[in-house]
Amino acid sequence: CGIVGYVGDKQAARFLIEGLTKLEYRGYDSAGIAVYNGESDAIRVEKSVGRLAELEKKIDSNVPVGCMGIGHTRWATHGGPSDLNSHPHTDCTGDFAVVHNGIIENYLALKEELIEAGHVFKSETDTEVLPHLLETYYEGDFEAAVRKVLRRIEGSYSIVFMSKADPDTLICTKQDNPLVIGLGEGENFIASDIPAIIARTRRTYIINDGEVAVVKKDSVWITNRRGEPITKKVFEVNWNA
Ligand code: GLU
Repeated sequence: CGIVGYVGDKQAARFLIEGLTKLEYRGYDSAGIAVYNGESDAIRVEKSVGRLAELEKKIDSNVPVGCMGIGHTRWATHGGPSDLNSHPHTDCTGDFAVVHNGIIENYLALKEELIEAGHVFKSETDTEVLPHLLETYYEGDFEAAVRKVLRRIEGSYSIVFMSKADPDTLICTKQDNPLVIGLGEGENFIASDIPAIIARTRRTYIINDGEVAVVKKDSVWITNRRGEPITKKVFEVNWNA
């Protein structure tokens, strides 16, 4: 399973598919991407059970356009492999999209609470509580809302959050699952493993448990769980994938 993200001045979909292809060796049962161009009414989500080739076939004649996006290959833990259970997952409004590797251990209690509050779930995954929680907590400040979500969840994860109202920003975090950021020129990359980004950049930040990264095309701002800034050393990858 794998996770990728892109924010920059180029087309996101190209890197998302390329990055996910490089992570195929990890195994998966379905794949998907979400792309936003900063203008349209909705984040475009395309996902499909099966190989990446199935997803590529689906978007071949109409590739999602936009310079910000997230992508995922899934290894199902909660809810069988299906188009609906594939990531990215969205909230009721479609204004938020999330990809997640790992398990949200307390998802059932959260799901019950959200359903009680009127949320309608589309999938059987543990992951879907994340976009619904984000929708609940979002009051105009993307990072603040993500921090509130993170206070509610238990488990192991790498996650990338995307918000339609913030078309220049991706926010990612991890706990007991890998996550790296690739530093480009006028673009930055997110991935669950280095092979996904090595063709694009060798300058990386290796994210540690509990760190939250706010990724824009020209900046990466990293803080710990308490929101205190962290100065990261750039890790230069000197091997070939
Ligand atoms: N637990 C999530 C699911 O079943 C994520 C699985 C994964 O790591 O790909 O959808």
